[in-house]
Amino acid sequence: MNEVKRPQKPLMFYYAIVLVALVLFNALVMPFLTNPGVTEVDYGEFMKMTESKQIAEVMIEDNKIIFKGTDGRFYKTGQVYDPELTDRLYKSGAKFSSQIVEQMSPILSILLSWVLPMVLIIGVGQYFSKKLMENAGGGAGSMMFGMGKSNAKVYVKSTSGIKFDDVAGEDEAKEILSEIVDFLENPGKYEAIGAKMPKGALLVGPPGTGKTLLAKAVAGEANVPFFSISGSEFVEMFVGMGAAKVRDLFKQANEKAPCIVFIDEVDAIGGKRDGRIGGNDEREQTLNQLLTEMDGFDGSKGVVILAATNRPESLDPALLRPGRFDRRVPVELPDLKGREEILKVHGKKVNMQPNVNYADVAKAAAGASGAELANIVNEAALRAVRDGRKSVTQADLEESVEVIIAGYQKKNRVLSDKEKMVVAYHEIGHALVAAKQSESAPVHKITIIPRTNGALGYTMQVEENEHFLLTKEELENKIATFTGGRAAESLIFGQITTGASNDIEQATRLARAMITRYGMSDEFGMVAMEQLTNQYLGGDTTLACSAETANHIDVVVRNLINTQYHKAYHILKDNSAQLHALAKYLYEHETITGEEFMDILHKTEADLPALPASEE
Ligand code: ADP
Ligand code: MG
Ligand code: ZN
Repeated sequence: MNEVKRPQKPLMFYYAIVLVALVLFNALVMPFLTNPGVTEVDYGEFMKMTESKQIAEVMIEDNKIIFKGTDGRFYKTGQVYDPELTDRLYKSGAKFSSQIVEQMSPILSILLSWVLPMVLIIGVGQYFSKKLMENAGGGAGSMMFGMGKSNAKVYVKSTSGIKFDDVAGEDEAKEILSEIVDFLENPGKYEAIGAKMPKGALLVGPPGTGKTLLAKAVAGEANVPFFSISGSEFVEMFVGMGAAKVRDLFKQANEKAPCIVFIDEVDAIGGKRDGRIGGNDEREQTLNQLLTEMDGFDGSKGVVILAATNRPESLDPALLRPGRFDRRVPVELPDLKGREEILKVHGKKVNMQPNVNYADVAKAAAGASGAELANIVNEAALRAVRDGRKSVTQADLEESVEVIIAGYQKKNRVLSDKEKMVVAYHEIGHALVAAKQSESAPVHKITIIPRTNGALGYTMQVEENEHFLLTKEELENKIATFTGGRAAESLIFGQITTGASNDIEQATRLARAMITRYGMSDEFGMVAMEQLTNQYLGGDTTLACSAETANHIDVVVRNLINTQYHKAYHILKDNSAQLHALAKYLYEHETITGEEFMDILHKTEADLPALPASEE
């Protein structure tokens, strides 16, 4: 790169640019430098301001008057023949002898308007011509608009200070990664015993769980340089550039070892090569180059490659072979404890009221990722500012959980009374079915205030104790709860609405999973008929069974949901007094908390005469 010739441009070209720039600078910029923020007004205005005593100080020059208003701003106006001016100024009480706007000395003025820009322009010109040379020398020999050089050069100095402490929860991932940190800090220890560090580790998990953050934290903990590049950057490039970029990245990393090379969204380049004719050649070249580089470099030098993806199943198997990304670090969605810790980490960055109960917020935010939790804290802070408060309260946090989960409260969308009534019964239908089934989580809050995401109301359930093993009965109860909304509509109004579409979707998905993946039907038993293809992004599945079986699955799914729907319907019918009382309350108050719900439920029950339950 050192012996590249200077690009030959006629000297005149540069002089012309400098000249044009100077003229522009003097015409456009100088007036602001010499007269900062001076408003021009007409003479009448000036006289008016004098009369109403709005002028603090005045300076009269040979052809203009510059003055400072009592509002602290500067004005100017043209000089008009006005013999009584001094008299009037004197009466108005304005000071008019002193200099207000400092005039620049002539030398300073010349320095500013000619010498400084000249120096700037020459400097900038030098910089760019140097850049141009570098680009011409680097990489693929392609130098279109200076894109020949890898962006990976932009590396974050480890001293940017992100540490493991900034990543809350994710203890398992941190434990695996701390070995890499140790290796980067004391490579000798590993060399002495002949142990080879894995060359690469692959961070795998849903979006927003802190994969990128963890990679930075590894560099921060080990205090080594951090080269970072995102897979999607490769894809946007010209043909042949991706491979050159990878080569370049590793060359730089080797020079700076020990260091971390981080490839974010590695699936963008590392997707399966599919041998299709006319497939993505560019991507395959890039991937091949990446594989070659990973095999080629000497792991003991202390270059560790981290990569992140939320689509591990789409990666080319070659990437996962020993000697490449052979270590897999799961970065999962945080559990209750993890969510609480993440909220605390981000809560520290805002002015939070000391009595805030993070555990409660974490409970309400079930299923939220780290990024969403960070967002919840920020939303809460924004809400506090909007309300003109100095610190963030529990209520702010709870409201922003709903914002993140259910969209902003939509105050201007008005439901008709009839609609509101239907929605109230629908939501209470869910909640009452949930409450009456022993295994179901109690309701946390129900609201029928429409949200921007289109939901007309929703029921928030909070698990008191998170658990991961669900029994068949619990799953069935969940399905019954999903159908409870529609069941209530049908029971009370004898009519059904579109309001249940989301419930139907969820119930169906759950029922299918029970049959095809959890082995929970008598008909099929423990046979897997569906495979998860996209575990972290929405969970797509593919059917792996004959068409005949698929038909039969549909029948079994239908029966399962129908059974649960009837169960829900009967629960509501048997408890219709409670249903009416609760729906009435929700209709009137629009929001009902879990406690209020239970109060009304118990009170209504106490008032009822003992009735024999209906059959079934
Ligand atoms: P990913 O790379 O997994 O998609 P990021 O690392 O980009 O997720 O996370 C985005 C942001 O979310 C982070 O900058 C951080 O503010 C927040 N965040 C995510 N996970 C965590 C966590 N475990 N602890 C603290 N903050 C987190
Ligand atoms: Mg990321
Ligand atoms: Zn519903």
